[in-house]
Amino acid sequence: MRTAICPGSFDPVTLGHLDIIVRASVIFDRVIVAVSRNPIKNPMFTIPERVEMLKEVLKPYRNVAIDSFDGLTVYYAAEQSAVAIVRGLRVISDFENEFRMALINKNLACNVETLFLMTRAEYSYISSSAVKDVALFGGPLDRLVPPLVVKKLKEKLNVNQFTGCCDGREV
Ligand code: ADP
Repeated sequence: MRTAICPGSFDPVTLGHLDIIVRASVIFDRVIVAVSRNPIKNPMFTIPERVEMLKEVLKPYRNVAIDSFDGLTVYYAAEQSAVAIVRGLRVISDFENEFRMALINKNLACNVETLFLMTRAEYSYISSSAVKDVALFGGPLDRLVPPLVVKKLKEKLNVNQFTGCCDGREV
């Protein structure tokens, strides 16, 4: 059984994250989406809320499980007997940081590989922070996150709808 970890903050999960997770689920027997409990700047959703959203949107994928963890990703990966940590790459600027992390992780646990999957072109500009910015100003979210996350963002920000879709539709 080959297990991979897809770690991240997922605050909230986006279509870009989902694409990477689903593609990893085709390559590996089991994928654990691991929400890091390490503090991030200005989180919008609590860890249980992020885990719940991931569980809901990834329900159709039988070999994908959701968890949360503290501390170093590579130690968590080793604990789960994972053979790989899967990360998504969007732009060149992601590369330097990811490269450094992959080398550090290899040094800490030499039997855990880091595998990079390239983003899909249409998701290359999506990040959780961009989603939060668009949501805060009431912009359209339907091309950035799954419908459940649009709903959760509406509830969190107490807005009825996000409007101004580029083709004139309301979300
Ligand atoms: P972190 O803070 O660990 O980077 P994120 O939740 O921002 O956590 O991202 C988790 C993983 O998903 C990272 O590997 C990141 O590169 C990847 N990722 C995020 N957005 C996208 C996207 N639009 N396309 C591909 N990969 C993405």
